[in-house]
Amino acid sequence: METPTIKGVLGMLMASLDDDNDNEKRVISLGMGDPTAFSCFRTTSVAEDAVVDTLVSHKFNGYSPTVGHPQTRSAICEYLSNNLPYKLSPDDVYITAGCTQAIEVAVSILASPNANILIPRPGFPIYELVAAFRNVEVRHFDLLPDNGWEVDLDAVDALADQNTVAIVVINPGNPCGNVYSYHHLKKIAETAKKHKIVVIADEVYGHLAFGSNPFVPMGVFGSMVPVLTLGSLSKRWIVPGWRLGWFVTTDPNAIFKNAKTIERLKKYFDICGAPATFIQAAVPQIIKETSEVFFTRTLSILKHASDVCYKKIKDIPCLTCPTKPQGSMVVMVKLNVSLMKDIKDDIDFCFKLAKEESIILLPGVTVGLKNWVRITFAAEPSFLDEALERVKSFCYRHSYQQKGLLVHD
Ligand SMILES: *Cc1c(COP(=O)(O)O)cnc(C)c1O
Repeated sequence: METPTIKGVLGMLMASLDDDNDNEKRVISLGMGDPTAFSCFRTTSVAEDAVVDTLVSHKFNGYSPTVGHPQTRSAICEYLSNNLPYKLSPDDVYITAGCTQAIEVAVSILASPNANILIPRPGFPIYELVAAFRNVEVRHFDLLPDNGWEVDLDAVDALADQNTVAIVVINPGNPCGNVYSYHHLKKIAETAKKHKIVVIADEVYGHLAFGSNPFVPMGVFGSMVPVLTLGSLSKRWIVPGWRLGWFVTTDPNAIFKNAKTIERLKKYFDICGAPATFIQAAVPQIIKETSEVFFTRTLSILKHASDVCYKKIKDIPCLTCPTKPQGSMVVMVKLNVSLMKDIKDDIDFCFKLAKEESIILLPGVTVGLKNWVRITFAAEPSFLDEALERVKSFCYRHSYQQKGLLVHD
């Protein structure tokens, strides 16, 4: 069977609710990674005001250069350079329609006959989709659940060959909620250097780290190995609909970015169609004026939500969460189907859960792990609480274990 897509499965789960809502419970979706559905996740008024200002200025109704508006490139350049041991150039920064388009650019620009790319499992399915369209072979390495979802570097060594062009690293992680240590990122960089491949660093959740490891951008190792840094305003500023992202050559020694590659990149951007000019033009003000208070508040909500989620899952039979999330907005939870009476797999679990409890979770198979589910904890606390209570009663109902007889570890 073709792997079902995230949007496809979530659509079917929602449709199954409409067809036959045999219960009156309010629908709570912890399936999608879009926190704007919950009122506690609102962007800062600084961002809204910045967009209003650029819109009513009448100065930004025209086309921008296809690689991005110059002041936008400069602002992102400065924003990213703040966390690096060297300075990027504004020319390293290309403005994209969200991080999604940055992924498309990265994979497309690296595509060549027989090329293959190393992708984490579980991962973010857009990489597979783009690779399929560009005829790039995908090779999966595992993330290790019992090691904080670190990259299985032995697997990377075994998979890489002379046709390997890149390794994808998503940090902070979707779907696992991992935040990698400096030490682990360095080992990834060394492995990439050894195989002479580029690191595609998906840092769309950059700075959304609330555990013990601080967020370290992969670009810190840019002098060792060329890094393509991908990001967007979507997650940190909670504006996924604004479609403002970036593709950045974090490559101070110009190993990847020779004249020919830059020429090719510029041509590729001619067919991309940059995001709305007035959104681009608002970026300098957004970056300069957003207060630490906004970021701290978002992190504290996410930390609290992830704690609630982790704690509640510990009390649910048949579910285990091997690693406490340290960042992003999502966590992977393992289903022990052998302890369940009438649940075949993760798809079956999610459809029955939707039907009986009106709760939407994402089946793990859509991100590469069968019999796991992905839970988005970026939700209103009261919703999250209620949702997990219903998951709990669902699990009791469908497991062999009876309430009160459960042995906790
Ligand atoms: C959300 C997400 C993206 C897409 O970001 P947009 O800016 O919304 O296009 C890319 N990669 C990962 C890992 C994500 O979670």
